[in-house]
Amino acid sequence: MGFIMRNESFICLACAREVSEHPSGSARNHCPKCLCSLHVDDLVPGDRASMCSWLMKPVGFEERKGKGMVIVHQCQKCKKRMVNKLAPDDEYLPILKKLSEIQARELLD
Ligand SMILES: [Zn+2]
Ligand SMILES: [Zn+2]
Repeated sequence: MGFIMRNESFICLACAREVSEHPSGSARNHCPKCLCSLHVDDLVPGDRASMCSWLMKPVGFEERKGKGMVIVHQCQKCKKRMVNKLAPDDEYLPILKKLSEIQARELLD
């Protein structure tokens, strides 16, 4: 299976991109291109206690004190939300822009 909470390369299940290891050796748990992840954690990132393992998509970004920008992931099956740190090579700006456009449209409706 694609996403594992270890620092090694994998193929993204959402966009089929081959993801290389985390540049600074931290855990790689999402794709730097589409920011999708898998629901493998239950309570805290890295516990791998969840049996769900469905695709988790980025639904928002938050500024956290001391941590910087984090991604909010939501599971496509059970709707659970998890917060994850951005990796230095995450291409999050296009996703951030897309999400804010969707939110702007929802406000207009
Ligand atoms: Zn991807
Ligand atoms: Zn889930």
